Amino acid sequence: PTMAHSKALLVLENFIGGKFVPCSSYIDSYNPSTGDVYCRVPDSGKEEVEAAVKAAKEAFPIWSSKSPLERSQILNKLADLIEHDLEAFAQAESKDQGKTITFARMVDIPRAVHNFRFFASSILHLVTECTEMPAMGCVHYTSRAPVGVAGLISPWNLPLYLLTWKIAPAIACGNTVVAKPSEMTSVTAWMMCKLLEKAGVPPGVVNVVFGTGAKAGEALVCHPDVPLLSFTGSTLTAQRITEKSAPHCKRLSLELGGKNPAIIFDDADLGQCIPTTVRSSFANQGEICLCTSRIFVQRGIYSEFLKRFVEETKKWKTGNPSDPTINVGALISKEHLEKVRNYVKKAQAEGARVLCGEGVDPLALPPGNQKGYFMLPTVIAEVKDESCCMQEEIFGPVTCVVAFDTEEEVIKRANGVKYGLAATVWSSNVGRVHRVAHRLQSGLVWTNCWLVRDLNLPFGGMKASGIGREGAKDSYEFFTEVKTITIKH
Ligand code: NAD
Repeated sequence: PTMAHSKALLVLENFIGGKFVPCSSYIDSYNPSTGDVYCRVPDSGKEEVEAAVKAAKEAFPIWSSKSPLERSQILNKLADLIEHDLEAFAQAESKDQGKTITFARMVDIPRAVHNFRFFASSILHLVTECTEMPAMGCVHYTSRAPVGVAGLISPWNLPLYLLTWKIAPAIACGNTVVAKPSEMTSVTAWMMCKLLEKAGVPPGVVNVVFGTGAKAGEALVCHPDVPLLSFTGSTLTAQRITEKSAPHCKRLSLELGGKNPAIIFDDADLGQCIPTTVRSSFANQGEICLCTSRIFVQRGIYSEFLKRFVEETKKWKTGNPSDPTINVGALISKEHLEKVRNYVKKAQAEGARVLCGEGVDPLALPPGNQKGYFMLPTVIAEVKDESCCMQEEIFGPVTCVVAFDTEEEVIKRANGVKYGLAATVWSSNVGRVHRVAHRLQSGLVWTNCWLVRDLNLPFGGMKASGIGREGAKDSYEFFTEVKTITIKH
């Protein structure tokens, strides 16, 4: 056997009531950059979810009665502990997910740390409302209380980043949680569990149950003692969760997919626009819900844009994710790679032109990565708006470039998909930027930039991209029950 095979597999355990508990069955988890099984993830079901919900219920009275300051200090401690182990977390995230070590070091893990620090701070500044009605001799005020046990379900693309974006606000305002990370990327959540006791998180406040969506996820969704569910993932799964939770009238927050347009007017600063749009298309292998996948370029600059965009894309190196000079790592799974490749094939069959990447350029991989799930960043031109490549979320390193003539036309075309998550607009005309931003059906609009976030402000999608928003105020609204109290004197 090779070194990789002779090494013992990493075996994860559920974290319930402050203890690691083994599971009766396990799922294989692959290293996407080698294609080897390297980890075994508990295949939890009803029984494990039941135990986790019970532990979370028992922990609720104590945790919810702590002061915001006490909870804040614990969240800060947890942030410090994750930050202390940043390199180990980044290595694990890269190995488990296929993303580059650079991205994990610069984005995933620092953001997970920041999520805890951000909510540790913002919980201290949560102010409720008060109004007076002198003529009636009344004052009204609102009080906010945690709801109970929150069910948190997260996807595989930004594993620890997105999971902590839910755990932090949920526990900051006094809820206890049962989290179910993606079965494909469970390792960093398990590593975080090892730090909870040291951070001072009491047993049962954060429980993590590993397993598939169909078994562990659905058991959580259907559990009668979990009144609220925060989910990030695909629109299809969200529909299923909505249906399954409906008999219990659960509170849902749904952060879903996107088919995000970039609109590039002829007065755009291409020096900034081109590298940023390459990044917005291919960062994290295009596996970010906010990634650009439809680029609309005004006719006058279309040819120049295309030429320079392809040149810039070709500079991105694909290969071993642990090599710090690599820009594009491996896709999450063999099946996902196949799905993404099929989109390129379909576009070609419809008469579109593949300008670089898949099927056009050679992909040279180091010997150890030959069985990994790699694909070159791919640019497609002359695709029809009705094509599946312009309508469906591909969630891989594929982007389509098309030409447009007028502002009116491009707004209509940009809005002509079922999704509405994130858009970018490139122009040096301030009036136009505002006009277009207002008319786009998109929860987020970035002009002359991409993925610049202030966590204070709402994040989320319109149409099939989601229901609800996350952010300082928005997450607390979701994770608390508000009461209006009237006092007559
Ligand atoms: P997915 O919907 O397949 O899975 C997400 C999570 O839901 C996983 O933990 C999975 O196990 C679980 N799940 C699956 N079926 C379930 C069921 N029936 N009941 C309960 N849980 C179930 O999504 P994915 O493939 O892991 O992630 C990619 C998707 O996530 C893309 O569509 C992407 O756009 C979206 N996403 C959205 C955001 C956002 O903030 N809007 C962020 C990242 C990813």
